[in-house]
Amino acid sequence: MNKLEKPIQVTKAFLPPLEEYVNMLREIWENSWVTNNGPLHNRLQEELTNYLKVSDCTLFTNGHLALDIAIKALKLEGEVITTPFTFASTTHAIVMNNLIPVFCDINMSDYTIDVHKIEELITDKTSAIIPVHVFGSPCDINAIEEIARKHNLKVIYDAAHAFGVEINGKGIGSYGDISMFSLHATKVYNTIEGGLLTYNNSDLKTKLNLLKNFGISGYEEVDEIGLNAKMNEFQAAMGILNLKYIDDQISKRKNIANIYRNGLKNLNGIKMVADKKNVEHNYAYFPIVIDEGKCGITRDQLFDSLREVNVMTRKYFYPLTTEFACYKGKYKDNHLHNAKYVAERVLTLPIYGELSEEDAYKIVELVCNIFNK
Ligand SMILES: *Cc1c(COP(=O)(O)O)cnc(C)c1O
Repeated sequence: MNKLEKPIQVTKAFLPPLEEYVNMLREIWENSWVTNNGPLHNRLQEELTNYLKVSDCTLFTNGHLALDIAIKALKLEGEVITTPFTFASTTHAIVMNNLIPVFCDINMSDYTIDVHKIEELITDKTSAIIPVHVFGSPCDINAIEEIARKHNLKVIYDAAHAFGVEINGKGIGSYGDISMFSLHATKVYNTIEGGLLTYNNSDLKTKLNLLKNFGISGYEEVDEIGLNAKMNEFQAAMGILNLKYIDDQISKRKNIANIYRNGLKNLNGIKMVADKKNVEHNYAYFPIVIDEGKCGITRDQLFDSLREVNVMTRKYFYPLTTEFACYKGKYKDNHLHNAKYVAERVLTLPIYGELSEEDAYKIVELVCNIFNK
């Protein structure tokens, strides 16, 4: 099969029908309320609390600032255990708060934190664990909760990828002290840019609202050293509309994932992440790990060959955050064997709700051709 006529990107932001957004704009114009806890912001916050099946949620202008504020709200100190197989945001949020990231390796089944390697990294300076539900796969939340309780540590989940994921019918955001979801255009559900924190301790609500608005508590009072991380009404409008389509989007993603799984399962040297029992997945990404020893082709060769036929994939996450110029050599990383192995071999295939079945089958065929060359 030849090159595709039009390039297929690795993801594509979901946009609601334009007329629907225009109608929401009319509402904003009528209210003349564009930001600072406007009516659409409040409505979306309530709708998302229900949708995510969590007890509380607070909205932010993006996921990164939400994570930054979560760390500030819990007053973390000293060392924080986390993983390097993630987006820059996770490590940056830790370091920007003057904390020391202590990197834990990942497991080989879903690339989340290896819970068997956490305890050996705990010292008397450790204050928290910040694991990542990478690609939307839930971490081993029970093991993490047990370790946290035993050592009196806080847990903040980077759930940027995990919008809509449930375990035994419970929202994934109900685990740990706080979870951060990103609502960026490239994520499963978007508010253009956006983020939110979920938590069970309702005392956090006031604190988070203060921190996202300069710490201002009254006309003449400022109680906290806060920043500006509020979600505006234009973002909230997008969120309210996109929420109507999210279930349909996730089921379309699931269909694409199944086409890939069936189409690629007989290829030697491609490893895929399996669905878990009792987990409602969101199919945020479709990562494959390429074993050159078994298929005679490297990840980079597959990346280049797919690019030549107009299929854009992503080396996600590569490099590890410990390899970034700003972090290299600063933290212990010679024990991160699985993280290094996966970062060098992982590729994410295009997946989004509006990707047609036809294109998904073409991508399967193109991958098979490259493998059988
Ligand atoms: C996208 C992402 C973030 C940051 O979220 P933004 O909304 O883009 O600020 C943090 N962590 C991970 C793992 C992400 O993928």
